[in-house]
Order: sequence, then C-alpha cells, then structure tokens
Amino acid sequence: MEARKLGHDGPELSVVGLGCNNFGMRIDAEASHAVVRAALDAGVTHFDTAEMYGGGRSEEFLGQALGSRRDEAVVATKYLPRPKDEPYRPGVLAERIRTGCEISLRRLGTDRIDVYYLHFPDPEAPMEEAQEALAALVEEGKVLHLASSNLSGDQIREADEIATDRGLPRFTGTQIEWNLLQRAVEESVVPAAREAGLGIVPYFPLASGLLTGKYKRGEAYPPGSRLAVAPHFAADVTDETFDRIERLAAFAAEHGRTLLELAVAWLAAQPGVASVIAGATSPAQVEANARAASWRLTDDDLAAIDAL
Ligand code: NAP
Repeated sequence: MEARKLGHDGPELSVVGLGCNNFGMRIDAEASHAVVRAALDAGVTHFDTAEMYGGGRSEEFLGQALGSRRDEAVVATKYLPRPKDEPYRPGVLAERIRTGCEISLRRLGTDRIDVYYLHFPDPEAPMEEAQEALAALVEEGKVLHLASSNLSGDQIREADEIATDRGLPRFTGTQIEWNLLQRAVEESVVPAAREAGLGIVPYFPLASGLLTGKYKRGEAYPPGSRLAVAPHFAADVTDETFDRIERLAAFAAEHGRTLLELAVAWLAAQPGVASVIAGATSPAQVEANARAASWRLTDDDLAAIDAL
C-alpha cells in the first residue's frame, strides 16, 4: 500500500484509509474488530474516527481492535462541537476541546492522538480560541498533528494566517466531502487547501456506497445496505445520479476496472489528496477498497472523466 504524507507536516498515511463511522452505529464491537483487523492485514494504516461516531463507541471499538497493534496505526479523531443550545462565552469552546481530547484518549486507550481534527467550525467562537486550545494539547504531547474539517476556503486561509502570525501549530490536513458525484469543493475549498499546504482527506469517498456499483436504477436497494437502512442518505438520489453512475461505470468497464476502483483511484489521483477514507461494514469491503487504489489514472483518463 502506498503511503503519503499528510500535508506539510503530517504523518505518513496509507493512501486508502478506513473511515470508522459505522462502528457502534451500523456494526457492533465484534464486527468492528474484524473490519479493523482486515484493514491492518490489507496494509491500511490510517484510521479515522470522531468523538461523535456511535456516541463514542467508534473510538472505543477502534482502540480495542488496534490493541497491541496501536503503533502500526495513525489514529485520527475529531472533537465534538460545542452544543448548539449552549450560549457562547469566551473560553467555553476551549474547555470543550480539552474535555473532548481527554475523553477521546480514554476511549481509544492511547496516550496520544496522531491527528486531531476540528470537526466543524464553531459559528460563534473566534477561530483563535480553537487554535490556541489545540496548540496547548500539542505542547502537552496529547496530540501530534492538527487538522480541520468542513471549513470554507476563506476559513482555511484565516486559520493558516492566525497560526502563522501567532506562532501556533498550523493545520496540516483537512477533511471535505468530495467524490465523483459531489465535486462542489473543487471551486474554492480545494484550491485554498492546496495553497495552505494541507493534505486533503476526502470524506464520503464512495458517496455512501453509490460509487461501489451495488445500487442499480429502478431496483430496490440491497437489504441491509446503507441506503436501505438509513434512507436519509438516499434523499438526493435522482435519475440524474444514476445517469452519472452509469457513465462512470461504463468508463471503468472500458478499462477493465470496476466503479469502486474508479471512485478510489480518481480521488487518489487528485493533487493534494493524502488518503481516501472509505467506510466499511465488513472485512470483504475493506479488502476491496484497499485493492482499489492500485489503478493509476493518467491525465488523459482524468480529462475523459471530466468530460463525462
Ligand atoms: P463512504 O466511504 O462514501 O461509504 C461507505 C459505505 O459504503 C460503507 O459503510 C458501506 O455501506 C459501503 N461500502 C464501502 N465499501 C464497499 C464495498 N467495497 N462494496 C460495497 N459497499 C461498500 O462513506 P462514509 O464511511 O460515511 O465516509 C467515510 C469516512 O469519512 C467516515 O467513516 C468518517 O470517518 C469520515 N467522515 C467525515 C465527515 C466529516 O465531517 N469530517 C463526515 C462524514 C464522514 P453499507 O455496507 O452499509 O451499504
């Protein structure tokens, strides 16, 4: 498995990572442990979780599953945002971040978080408050690298300026929703991330499974699949979605490849992308996802995909 550095200052990540938001939500501890073991055995070293996934069970299950193999992994997690119903007062976000970090370390059963994410920007707190609280955690060795998520292009630039001006650790990566069906971030977020030297970690890389080929136009969603059990993920699925899926699948087939391989390989071919964190609910899925990155798309392929 190819390894890539996360941005200007981050750790080396496997180009296919494992998104752990199914743990404790869709799958139980035993099934989560099996997915993590399969990932490690397939060469995946990057594991992405968050304080909010499964009400904390995702972090717990990931920590248990890594066990004595903790040092083989780069563990990324994200603090829970400040509750929306709690009025903002200076310092309250900083407290939330410190508490969140302690909770995550305990649940993960580890002494350090390799990459700690600001999960969502706080609409009321100044960005400095989060950045100073995160800097203190780095200083204490509880967190090794910092990253952001769901920031706009302007917010990415603002955060980088604050860090540079105040001598705080800079974010080295960012997570954004990006896949072959959802390319809006290419307009301003991706360019801002690249200018700031951030490694990009696209989330929903498989569009919740739409880019695996298992959902077909006019057919019922496969029983037990995400779109079948969580219909809100299917809210935006239209005929036009299937038009695009079918064109992409035909392109992949012309090259002797699958739609899943195209979804992973296309993201991996985008400048700035460090790791594609596909989620999985079974060892077979994670094995297929890990294999998918072996396709190297050429510039001609990328232009042909844009034209589709
Ligand atoms: P995704 O990777 O686009 O889709 C994952 C889902 O697709 C799986 O749960 C599985 O669902 C299906 N799937 C995966 N591999 C498959 C395969 N080989 N064959 C058939 N089906 C397959 O979406 P995601 O897991 O939600 O997103 C990836 C990660 O991004 C998350 O786990 C999380 O770590 C992160 N994330 C971050 C944010 C953020 O705000 N920063 C937001 C969302 C997600 P079923 O088996 O259930 O059908």
